[in-house]
Amino acid sequence: MRRLAKVELHLHLEGAAPPAFIRGLAAEKHMDISGIFAAEGGYAWKDFPHFLKVYEAASSVLRTPADYRRLLLAVAEERAADGVLYGEIFLSPDFCGGGELAAWRDYLGAMAEAAREAEATLGITLRGVVTAVRHFGPEQARRAALCAAETAGDFICGFGIGGDETVLSPADFSWGFDCAREAGLGLTAHAGEWRGPEGIRDSLAAWAPSRLGHGVRAIEDLALVDLLAEREIHLELCPGSNLALGLYPDIRHHPVAELERRGVKLSISTDDPPFFRTSLAKEFAALHRAFDWEEPQFRRIALQALDAAFCDPDTRKRITAKLEG
Ligand SMILES: [Zn+2]
Repeated sequence: MRRLAKVELHLHLEGAAPPAFIRGLAAEKHMDISGIFAAEGGYAWKDFPHFLKVYEAASSVLRTPADYRRLLLAVAEERAADGVLYGEIFLSPDFCGGGELAAWRDYLGAMAEAAREAEATLGITLRGVVTAVRHFGPEQARRAALCAAETAGDFICGFGIGGDETVLSPADFSWGFDCAREAGLGLTAHAGEWRGPEGIRDSLAAWAPSRLGHGVRAIEDLALVDLLAEREIHLELCPGSNLALGLYPDIRHHPVAELERRGVKLSISTDDPPFFRTSLAKEFAALHRAFDWEEPQFRRIALQALDAAFCDPDTRKRITAKLEG
């Protein structure tokens, strides 16, 4: 499963930070965050609110563009080892300079340089999707969108929103999506994870994204599933994340196969892999065991992901050739 070529669209940079990397950085900085680790060395959390707290504590050791450069390289190395050819990474100006544009440019420069280095040494192509954090509120989201619009280009190719989906309503964040759309960025939004079908409908109406992060709970409303299929709204599915956070008891109860059967475009990602003790190889193995998915299916999913990717057409062509080769 590790050898299969993969395309991953839904990965949070801080959420992908290897625990050993964060522990090492904390030690260098004489910061004590030992409380966020389990005895075996991984991240320890108990429910979604606590997960967000542990996530922020882990991110708190990342304080400079140089830290982010090292983080991106560490994450790229793990993704490449997992078989990822092309990946989009969610980056938050909130964590990179507090939403200030000048500071964001410094962080972004360091990350884009790391991505170029990773491409040269590991053969993995990475792009950035600026992601606002919903529970930080509309004003911070507006600043994140401005950072995205001002730095849209080769590396930054999309804008989205993550965080706690139950906070406020999509309309409160419309400004950011309009701003990003005008800047030519692709749009994605976390929806249909903590809120049901109505959360997805509200998000589509307010933001018109071409992709949804998760979107799994569309399955509770089959008319909505048909709508997603008809409009070719792509779902960035992260089954392991949903299982770890308790949305479904096990992979057999996850709607991934049913959504696929009903014609919804989708791809498989890991969201925050070390937090959820997962990798793409593990996700693929679980899908193989539960639904008998074989290599042709995984190949199709990778091409579907690439279709929904926000990169420029030349990059898409180049990666497609690699996937088909
Ligand atoms: Zn996510």
